[in-house]
Amino acid sequence: FNPAHNEPDDSPPAVFPSNNAYNQSLANATFVMLVRNSDLDGTISSIRALEDRFNSKFGYPYVLLNDEPFTTEFKRRVSALTFSKMKFGLIPKEHWSQPDWINEEKASEARKQMQAANVKYGGSVAYRSMCRFNSGHKLLQQYKWYWRVEPNVKFYCNIDNDPFKYMEENNKVYGFTIAVYEIPATIRSLWPAVTDFIKEHPEYIADDNAMGFISDNNGLTYNRCHFWSNFEIADMDFWRGPAYSAFFDHLDLHGGFYYERWGDAPVHSIAASLFLKADQIHFFQEIGYQHDDWAHCPLPNDIWEKGQCACSQRGSFDYDVSSCKPRWDSFIRSRG
Ligand code: GDP
Ligand code: MN
Repeated sequence: FNPAHNEPDDSPPAVFPSNNAYNQSLANATFVMLVRNSDLDGTISSIRALEDRFNSKFGYPYVLLNDEPFTTEFKRRVSALTFSKMKFGLIPKEHWSQPDWINEEKASEARKQMQAANVKYGGSVAYRSMCRFNSGHKLLQQYKWYWRVEPNVKFYCNIDNDPFKYMEENNKVYGFTIAVYEIPATIRSLWPAVTDFIKEHPEYIADDNAMGFISDNNGLTYNRCHFWSNFEIADMDFWRGPAYSAFFDHLDLHGGFYYERWGDAPVHSIAASLFLKADQIHFFQEIGYQHDDWAHCPLPNDIWEKGQCACSQRGSFDYDVSSCKPRWDSFIRSRG
């Protein structure tokens, strides 16, 4: 996969406006959006907000990925939003299909049961392929950092400091804004599979890891907390490295992406919590962000004011009963 080969014919020329800050040094980073042609309006809305609140002053590129070819209309409308470089990539079929070791009879029975039980996306193969793709792909080799963006998300505050540079300069690997509990029915055998992996590969478990965030009994059970991966700013070298590569392969062979409905959020979060030092995981307080019904709005007044945030602090999800942020806080406090 070489996204450069997917440049639209009508992509904008690489000239930049004169009133920008392109002379700032940038990290080797990109935005990544996985979207369908039908997500056009939501894609435009997310990019517009990102540009207005952050990227028009920085100029980081975008990579848009799709399991089907982007339409000319899609590329034209989206390219018009920014002078930043934009690439449109087609995901190779082998990255987006049920592996041949999956027993389709067993998988379809699982889908039927989950759908009958009204589990969100329980009957969908495409959703499962999406989760497996987000968990396991190794595209975008030319970049080190990425910021994952979804259609229809909101950015509520000015982002004046470059989050990529922050990560780079502070030895961070994984950044989040919202943490939530996973739906139990989608991950019945995920933790046993993780436990097996830990037994096989104790060498990958970091000292000072964040096991205390995802387990309340030192690894016996999973408390279902995960970083909400529709927003991620992370170092792809972590996903490309030996620990995560072995972990993903182990989970993939187990088949839970298809026999259950393992999400990329718990998979990424468990990996980050076990294979990184806890202080390599960063909570981005200053990034006001909304996906679906839940929003993070900066609670410290000085940060909220400085960011000219358009969100209500009272509406922030951080300390909602469904939020795992309280557990993150108490985990961080317990480390002293
Ligand atoms: P949710 O956030 O878990 O409710 O799931 P979404 O429906 O928002 O999907 C997550 C991300 O994957 C979004 O960026 C979607 O645009 C993208 N996505 C989901 N399904 C597909 C698909 O079948 N094809 C493509 N190209 N993108 C998809
Ligand atoms: Mn979504």
